[in-house]
Amino acid sequence: MAPEMLYRFIEDDRRFVIDTETCFCFECDDISWDVLELYPNTPVNRIKHLLKDRHDPNEVEEVIGELEWLRHTSAILPKPIKEDASKKTIRPNALESISISLPHQGAENRARRRWGATKNEADSPAKAFGLDAIALLLARAGDQPVRIVFVEEQAIHDPDLIADLCRHAQRSAKLADRVLTVEVLVRNVPCSSLPADLEGHGLSFSVVMSGDSDFQAGLRAIAALNNASLAKWEKALRSAGEGATGSVTLRPGNAEFASGVSALRNAGFNWIRLDLPGSFAVNPTLDADAMADTLNEVARTYAESLAANKYYRLDPIAELFNHIYDGKPNHRADPTGAHTLYIDRDGGIYPNAEFSHLETFKIGSLETGEIDEERREPFFDIGSQSVGVCRACWARGLCGGGAAAVHHARTGSLHTPDETWCNAQRKWLAALVASFNVLSSKGVDFTRVYQSLTLTGKPSVFAALRSVFQQTVGMRPIEEADGEMLAGWEEWNDAAYFSFSETTVLMTTQYDREMDALHPQGQQQELMLIHPDGTPFGLFRVKPERVKGAADVAFYFRNEADYAADKVRKGIQTLLKQAGGQQELRRLTTSVTAEETGLQQFLEAIGFEREGTLREALFLHDAYHDIHLYGITV
Ligand code: SF4
Repeated sequence: MAPEMLYRFIEDDRRFVIDTETCFCFECDDISWDVLELYPNTPVNRIKHLLKDRHDPNEVEEVIGELEWLRHTSAILPKPIKEDASKKTIRPNALESISISLPHQGAENRARRRWGATKNEADSPAKAFGLDAIALLLARAGDQPVRIVFVEEQAIHDPDLIADLCRHAQRSAKLADRVLTVEVLVRNVPCSSLPADLEGHGLSFSVVMSGDSDFQAGLRAIAALNNASLAKWEKALRSAGEGATGSVTLRPGNAEFASGVSALRNAGFNWIRLDLPGSFAVNPTLDADAMADTLNEVARTYAESLAANKYYRLDPIAELFNHIYDGKPNHRADPTGAHTLYIDRDGGIYPNAEFSHLETFKIGSLETGEIDEERREPFFDIGSQSVGVCRACWARGLCGGGAAAVHHARTGSLHTPDETWCNAQRKWLAALVASFNVLSSKGVDFTRVYQSLTLTGKPSVFAALRSVFQQTVGMRPIEEADGEMLAGWEEWNDAAYFSFSETTVLMTTQYDREMDALHPQGQQQELMLIHPDGTPFGLFRVKPERVKGAADVAFYFRNEADYAADKVRKGIQTLLKQAGGQQELRRLTTSVTAEETGLQQFLEAIGFEREGTLREALFLHDAYHDIHLYGITV
């Protein structure tokens, strides 16, 4: 049976549709629900004929027009490309991540016997072990960024060694022209004064480090934590150093974990991860349906927090929101074996830590330097495009085919998902889509939720603006919910922001503006300027020019008085300095109509100079108008 392309479902008495390939989803009204029962497999005229007694044919035609527009933009029903089909059959096996448990105490003695005599005498056996793991990762990496995870039990045992290995890994990655992130994961941590809500569940803490900073002091502080409270862990992770981000992972031991998530949030953690595959792998008989109910509850609470502007990152829910928001399905959620490997304290190589207690899944040895590709091969075929039952599943782009360790634990096969587990998975993913649509209609930006709470190298224009404006005025990306207001701002507006621009037409509709928010145009970025209470007051647009370091910018403030407001002028001056320092922007130019005297005074006050005039460059209201060009070197 051909997989369903547009899947309709009802959640909490509301109706939704999701494109099973792109994950684009939206809530349906009466007409679109009925149209989508027939679209796209029924000709348009036939749809109009079949629905003529239930709906106004003009409205039916309008809905079909909107669906066709979405189709044209590939938001729904993307054309299958032959190339894509061939890509699906390729078995990618480049490594993206290695997790390693370094030997210590008794295990180090064993390592000494194996490595000590053959390695640099200055290196401890544990260090030689770590160096080999780094070499393995870099030798088998593809073009993707890579990650090495040092896995510690209960505490960091040798922070200086790990800091040393982190430095070595960063240096080696640079030489190999790879982007590398280092993570230190401390599993099964005992905590004092643990809230009762967290009893019975596993807790791990992790610090992700990127950039060239030295994390030795931060790792030492974390290593000094001994049976510490959650608050102390949170503080130590938060202070681990510039370029470091801390997180806590909760591995539910039973289905009663909703209050445990709240307890972690109350302890101040900004990044909480739920290890759901780990839960099922450790306890295969967990009640999947009860777990799904709790996940629904957790997702709903999370959505309420985001709607109230209380941002934090809760994975995998934030990751899934981001996939839907970006229209990027995840067809392989579990990278086990193909893209990740785990090395245990004895140097045994496994697809991931969940398989490390099973000798049959040992695929190699760091000691001998051998990996048995035949044993690894079954892991290449994991994912929703490779498993038959997944290819026909509406949730495939979100579930990504589940996790091999869960399937193996529940059915004994890597490639056979357990039907009960799948039903529960689809149940909570349907609720997640409903939550996404509620949030999306309230203008929550999931890219911001997903990225701003974790460090991703160089700050973006958005990050620079956010930090600059946070005390005086604020900014955020344009969102779908701004559509109606922006259409009102733009309509017949003579300001150069709208009238002297390639993309605006003075007669935009709310629908066009909503689509602009969902599908930004190329490299151009449009940002909403807001007061500290969140009220929008203007727009800022930046578009890189062909010459390196040059950009075309535009400002528009809704209230003329804001051009003269001191706090706005100071905020934007600081922004320009930040942009010059962090974004490699050197030269900015902007265009202003001769009539916009307030904007001209604002530009001159913040350092722009008038550099020329384009005579009669704008034709508007049956007359030609001059455009003044302003520029600044930041
Ligand atoms: S829910 Fe089950 S069938 Fe659907 S994609 Fe996930 S693992 Fe495959």
